[in-house]
Amino acid sequence: MPTPTDPEVPVIEFVDVEKRFGDNIVLKDLNFSVRRGERVTLIGPSGSGKTTILRLVMTLEELTGGYIFVDGEPLTHREKDGKRVAVSPKEQKKLRTRIGMVFQQFNLFPNMTVLENIVEAPIHVLGQSKAEATAKAHSLLEQVGLPDKADQHPLSLSGGQQQRVAIARALAMDPEILLLDEVTSALDPEVVGDVLNILRKVADTTNVTMLIVTHEMSFARDVSHKVMMFDGGRVIEEGSPEKIFSDPSQERTKQFLSAVL
Ligand code: ADP
Repeated sequence: MPTPTDPEVPVIEFVDVEKRFGDNIVLKDLNFSVRRGERVTLIGPSGSGKTTILRLVMTLEELTGGYIFVDGEPLTHREKDGKRVAVSPKEQKKLRTRIGMVFQQFNLFPNMTVLENIVEAPIHVLGQSKAEATAKAHSLLEQVGLPDKADQHPLSLSGGQQQRVAIARALAMDPEILLLDEVTSALDPEVVGDVLNILRKVADTTNVTMLIVTHEMSFARDVSHKVMMFDGGRVIEEGSPEKIFSDPSQERTKQFLSAVL
């Protein structure tokens, strides 16, 4: 039996994934996998389904067809006697604790302080003691350059600071998988570099598996092991960042990159 730490088992695996919103089929027959410690960036035009992929992994959207596996375990459905059967809420919750997400719009709890935002899930989901979670939160705030903001409320902070808190909150869960959804798109240009540098450091110093959606192509080039180009809910090309950014083989990829670079 493969174990969650078996390096041969993909950390994320999509098998024949379909996602529709009503009649709109956004993803169809999507198959890909991400290895442990791999950092994969999804690029492609707006509306091609990139954010939907991250939201499916985070179980924020309902999967309408196919299977997603995390560490080899079914995240939403398993096949049983030829049928597609939903996994139990308990199984899903257990897998969910291994996944962290940082959103474009920060999504911090506005009624809690910065510290409370960070310790909430470690205490209530992982069962850490308040002292342990608080000590870790302070060290993460140090790491993201906000050691003196623990007692402030998110809305008193700038966008860049809120996003740094959101990164600290995601890291507080020690996730195996970190999902980054256009994390700099809502920020003022002058703070984008700071936030990306924090994430570069996370990439350099941890083995966390990352699935990234970004328009920041130099960041994608620096941190990704693999880039997947989407169009119309399908992967039309994938490869190393060097290959995709310098020598793409598909005309559509060339067009997209010439518009964004
Ligand atoms: P991308 O991240 O590549 O810009 P998205 O994953 O956000 O693309 O969206 C893909 C498609 O799914 C778009 O056509 C979008 O309108 C549709 N979509 C996304 N979320 C919803 C939703 N909650 N309800 C209906 N349609 C949605």
